[in-house]
Amino acid sequence: MDLPSPQLAWIDGQPLPAPGGATFATVDPSTEEVLAEVARCGEEAVDTAVAGARRAFPGWRDLAPPERAGRIRAVARALAGRAEEFARLETLDTGKPLSLARSEVDGTVRYLDYYAGLADKIHGESIPLGPGYLNYTVHEPVGVTGHIVPWNAPLNMVGRSLGPALAAGNTAVVKPAEQTPLTALRFGALCREAGLPDGVYQVVPGFGTEAGAALAAHPGIDSLTFTGSVATGRAVARACADRIRPVVLELGGKSPQLVFADADFDTVAAEVAKGIFTNTGQFCDAGSRLLVEESVREALVERLVARAHAVDCGPGGDDPDMGPLISAEQRDRVRGFLARGEAEGARRLGPGPESVPRRGYFVPPTVFTGVRPDMAIAREEIFGPVLCVQGFRDEAEAIALANDTSYGLAAGIHTRDIDRAHRLAAALEAGYVMINEYFTGGIGSPFGGWKESGIGHERGLEAVHNYTRLKNVVVRVAR
Ligand code: ADP
Repeated sequence: MDLPSPQLAWIDGQPLPAPGGATFATVDPSTEEVLAEVARCGEEAVDTAVAGARRAFPGWRDLAPPERAGRIRAVARALAGRAEEFARLETLDTGKPLSLARSEVDGTVRYLDYYAGLADKIHGESIPLGPGYLNYTVHEPVGVTGHIVPWNAPLNMVGRSLGPALAAGNTAVVKPAEQTPLTALRFGALCREAGLPDGVYQVVPGFGTEAGAALAAHPGIDSLTFTGSVATGRAVARACADRIRPVVLELGGKSPQLVFADADFDTVAAEVAKGIFTNTGQFCDAGSRLLVEESVREALVERLVARAHAVDCGPGGDDPDMGPLISAEQRDRVRGFLARGEAEGARRLGPGPESVPRRGYFVPPTVFTGVRPDMAIAREEIFGPVLCVQGFRDEAEAIALANDTSYGLAAGIHTRDIDRAHRLAAALEAGYVMINEYFTGGIGSPFGGWKESGIGHERGLEAVHNYTRLKNVVVRVAR
């Protein structure tokens, strides 16, 4: 693939080096080879990007909404036309299987289309005050929105928050993760070709503590959307608190999948495996804890271990079942949890380390049994293909185990008993509950975490109001 190096920031419709020409390397996790050098943006570049977005804002805001929708749709069509190129680039930068990258690029197109369709439907209300008064609300764009994006689904995460931000009339500055800046940058050039006005979509690649921190703290950013770890979420929320700016946080999870003995056993093993092995377990809503009714625990574990043995791990470009982890750091972290689980007395099942390629950041899919609730592997987010199994005897115990976590992002319930399914859905402390199919829902389903999993919602109609501010206008009408 043609990949010029260095890859430059995308500001005001053009590629721009970081001041001083500083760069950092982005690596193919499947091969550990450097793909390209990338502009290492810091405060100065962020400043330039925010200033450009600010200049572009009035023009974009004042486009008639159907016109704005048309511009966003044109970007969606351009991306759809080059979907394969973007999917291949995403696979290179993340190591993820090509078919997963394809579905994420397709999802990005759908986000853009979905929110383009909303651009002319962001309307307010009128409030009856009685004769002689007119009282109405208007949802205005906030201005320049900041987006700090993670590495696990890079372009898809850009589309998820960029779509509603642009549809509402904002201009955006995006900081992609340092591990995976390539698709967000190439998307800048695509936006220009598709006719998006310069400055509406700005991209400042760089490290979290440099470009990310500068963006979160920038006085010219009117709202911040962050997806990433809890620790970094706290840091960016503090930076926003200092300037009293709204923040949307989509953070980690330790999401349970609850399986009852009456569940459809043919599909449940596939759903549980999908929930933890897809994207090598690197989704914030990965179903990383299996809570299973004791009477079927052994049988289900047997099926899951068989599935783990059947997972074919390899370079993303070969379109395997499972690619590598994103980085050496992440691989070492996951290996650390594997060792810790064993040291704490859990039983590690599944293929051994010899089953995965030696080159690249691979770890084998793993199932832990004999997991106690106090173990680190049961409590901490691993962000790898590691499933922790705990048994329960009844519904009350299942709920107690499921909610015994500082997180509250997602939960899966597998049962054919409709009453139980809804009792549980009501009892679980999670922002997103899926019944009988994991990762179900889609772009129209509001997605957001409770507890330490975050603040606010992305996706769906809800998300547009992350990017608007409400104005109430009250008129005394002359008689
Ligand atoms: P992870 O640990 O999974 O890499 P992070 O929360 O560190 O998750 O990263 C998510 C995003 O946040 C990335 O784009 C990263 O560069 C950015 N980031 C990391 N640290 C900071 C920080 N201190 N301020 C702002 N952004 C940051």
